[in-house]
Amino acid sequence: MFHLDYIAALSGWLIFKEQNVSKQWVYLFTEVAQAEAYKGGSWDAVRGLLGGKGAGLADMTRAGVPVPPGFTITTEACNAYVAGGDKFPEGMWDQVLAALKKVEEATGKKFGDPANPLLVSCRSGAKFSMPGMMDTVLNIGLNDETAAGMVKLTGNPRFVNDSYRRLVEMFGSVVLGIPDEPFEDALKEYKAHKGYKLDTEMTAEDWQAMVGTFKAIIKKHKGFVFPQEPLKQLSLATEAVFHSWMGKKAIDYRRAANIPDDLGTAVNIVTMVFGNMGNDSGTGVAFTRNPSTGEKKMMGEYLLNAQGEDVVAGIRNTDPVENMSQTMPDVYKQFMEITARLEKHYKEMQDVEFTIERGKLWMLQTRTAKRTAASEVKVAVDMVNEGLITKEEAVSRVKTEQLDALLHPYFDEATMKAAEKAGKLYAKGVNASPGAASGQIYFDADTAEKMAKEHKQSVIMVRPFTKPDDVHGMLAAKGVLTSEGGASSHAAVVARQFGVPCVVGASMMQIDLEKRLMTSNGITVKEGEWISIDGATGKVFVGELKTTNPNLEEMTDLLTLLNWADSIARLQVWANSDYPQDARRARKFGAKGIGLCRTEHMFFEPARLPIVQRMILAKDPAVQKAALDELLPFQRSDFAGLFNAMDGYPVIIRLIDPPMHEFMPDEEKLFEEVVTMRVQGETKGLAEKETLLAAIKAMHESNPMMGLRGVRLSIYMPELVEMQVRAIFEAACDETKKGIVVKPEVMIPLTGTVKELEWIQPRLVRIAKQVLEEKGVDKLNYKFGTMIEIPRAAVTAGEIAAVAEFFSFGTNDLTQMTFGYSRDDAERNFLVKYVEEGILVKNPFQTIDRAGVGKLMQMAVNDGRAVRPNLEVGICGEHGGDPDSIEFCHLIGNNYVSCSPFRVPIARLAAAHAALKHGKGLVQDK
Ligand code: ADP
Ligand code: MG
Ligand code: MG
Repeated sequence: MFHLDYIAALSGWLIFKEQNVSKQWVYLFTEVAQAEAYKGGSWDAVRGLLGGKGAGLADMTRAGVPVPPGFTITTEACNAYVAGGDKFPEGMWDQVLAALKKVEEATGKKFGDPANPLLVSCRSGAKFSMPGMMDTVLNIGLNDETAAGMVKLTGNPRFVNDSYRRLVEMFGSVVLGIPDEPFEDALKEYKAHKGYKLDTEMTAEDWQAMVGTFKAIIKKHKGFVFPQEPLKQLSLATEAVFHSWMGKKAIDYRRAANIPDDLGTAVNIVTMVFGNMGNDSGTGVAFTRNPSTGEKKMMGEYLLNAQGEDVVAGIRNTDPVENMSQTMPDVYKQFMEITARLEKHYKEMQDVEFTIERGKLWMLQTRTAKRTAASEVKVAVDMVNEGLITKEEAVSRVKTEQLDALLHPYFDEATMKAAEKAGKLYAKGVNASPGAASGQIYFDADTAEKMAKEHKQSVIMVRPFTKPDDVHGMLAAKGVLTSEGGASSHAAVVARQFGVPCVVGASMMQIDLEKRLMTSNGITVKEGEWISIDGATGKVFVGELKTTNPNLEEMTDLLTLLNWADSIARLQVWANSDYPQDARRARKFGAKGIGLCRTEHMFFEPARLPIVQRMILAKDPAVQKAALDELLPFQRSDFAGLFNAMDGYPVIIRLIDPPMHEFMPDEEKLFEEVVTMRVQGETKGLAEKETLLAAIKAMHESNPMMGLRGVRLSIYMPELVEMQVRAIFEAACDETKKGIVVKPEVMIPLTGTVKELEWIQPRLVRIAKQVLEEKGVDKLNYKFGTMIEIPRAAVTAGEIAAVAEFFSFGTNDLTQMTFGYSRDDAERNFLVKYVEEGILVKNPFQTIDRAGVGKLMQMAVNDGRAVRPNLEVGICGEHGGDPDSIEFCHLIGNNYVSCSPFRVPIARLAAAHAALKHGKGLVQDK
């Protein structure tokens, strides 16, 4: 038995040896080709192996950019360290020593050699830059002896002692975990004692004294002395980086950002270069373009005679990078040349760190720069014009969410700065849903809803946190603010889903729900008073701030980008518009047609409603005809306006859809009036009211949304839609004669069986033809088609397409009827819970449920086109503006999506993204 165990253990050990010893844990910056070969040529995988910082340093080295020699210990080593119970994997340390030797050869210096010491920094770097990771330790390799050696070498004891005290301090705080305060306090005390204000007043002797003091702090906190052995410093620092990967801060961040734990972090060991060797030295950071506006102009700052983070620490006032053209013209020239090369190489705006040591430039980091949405758009367009990237790349770089943020109302920077200056900054929280909003605060959903709906106030709903019961208040509000919770809290999820600006977790706010007030930053705000929230930055202000509405016409780069998007997309984007002014706006936003004009809105206008009511109530056909004749000119001019606005583009007009009672007075209110009149003995007008009440009662339906509406109403009362069709074609003929290109498409709503269409459509076509003849117009491009919004229509689409010349998916009703949910009830009651519990992945009224509703759509397209190959297919539900749903419409072969005018730009971008991701798919004529 013993024997077998022994063999098993031995073979296990051999496998372990096999796996690990042969493994390369350490890559010199000059070994990027090896890393690429190991990762099969994938640069993304190389970044995974070496981390973003390490891969960038190696890549710059390969490109001939001056990078101090160094090497990277891989993320795999980090994972092996963690898995092996906090032990360096077999062979790793030997590889570190070997790599260190190569660095010594490259620099001509020796680690730990007082005669010419090599110093290094130890820098963490995961694949994605990530807060919570260990800070960098500079000047590793300094000890009492090497420090003395460097003094001899440089003749600059102040510089050496300053560097040494930085090492002891960083080592103490970063590697050994001692708080910063004892170090900072000691320095403050010392300067006060000496009467110094600035660090620059410290002399060589002063810094030497600080080295001693800092060493004593380590001894006091840790019970051991600062390690003098350079290799010990290096190994402890490396271990500390690996440890920080599993630190609480890093883990919390990864959970929130959905980054897996097994990515690991790399460690970069980099030869020190010194920006603090005098006024021919310095250090700085820069963006290759402006990260807020995208302007093609280097933006950065630097400091002479400084090291590492001095620039960002804000201890001294920095100079703009362009000043280097005066102070160090040669270095400046080289710097501009290198950064231009880096941009060309990565085809991306870069964010770089650099140091100048005695007139020689060294690059210490390069990475893709973070930027605002506006900057993203401008940089993408500029880079196409500069020949760096293709239009396709530019279009795919800009995300629909960024565009969304860009097109929301916002507080402009000047407004926010002024508010902050005036002390109006109230709180800061998590930026949970973009957009800016000002409003009066209310602390519960019912009051918020009441104030918004009945009192027409702009409302900001404020709660410690929200629950499903609160959704109606959130939907009625202009914005939502909570003091608790994070980016995935209920409030944040709901707000994002419904596009309500939202700030959550503004924890400095004390909300008193009893007293109906809240306090923050020393300011108390009572219920009903104004605040402003910025969902893009998470800032909260007291009072009303002016919002700015973005003006698309002035955003020339965005317009360029959207035109490119159109040339890539297969799907067209149309808009839902009921009025000419909406249609004109939609057209300006790039809509190529009207996908839905709801005619019922036209009936609600005060001048028309009484005529509509008279028409509905008429018992005598002559009275009804008279009312319809009165309505006809109104409708005709409505349509003429739309056709005019959309000259050259198709306009889909939906015939009357809602149940008739929507045009009648409220039954309960009328009943109250009648009762009051009876009680008070008033007779004047009572009889009319009683008749009206009886008529409304007779029209009562227990489930009107599934009752007499849509095509059913047209069959029940064809005169109304016949009038509508006459109005459409009269207007079309009139506009045609004016030289406008009119393409009317008449849409019949709520078809469930082809028999309905067979009944109504020929009557309407007859009227159309009759009008053309009357008007003497012999050529007009028109279509008759139907909405597909009842599951039965989707299932029998093959039959329906024999009659209908186009389909338009009404996905709001189709979703309601496929799920059997009433949307209002679902959103008010259980939908959020369903999403939270994972029963539904997303709100199906926002994003098409591909597996269910989507399957019906797919079936309808396929079966419809089998019968009528050139069947035009679109979507006019709210999903038409949702990027995920647009992608789906692309996949099933829609011709267009139609959405609200404001969503048109986002839809155009989403349509292009879908084409880039999935190819052109079924190519339809445009
Ligand atoms: P972070 O990810 O926080 O920027 P870095 O590792 O980039 O951390 O380093 C922190 C600072 O130290 C930066 O200003 C960097 O330029 C500087 N630095 C890092 N390594 C060296 C080095 N070998 N020589 C000089 N400065 C360095
Ligand atoms: Mg850095
Ligand atoms: Mg409908």
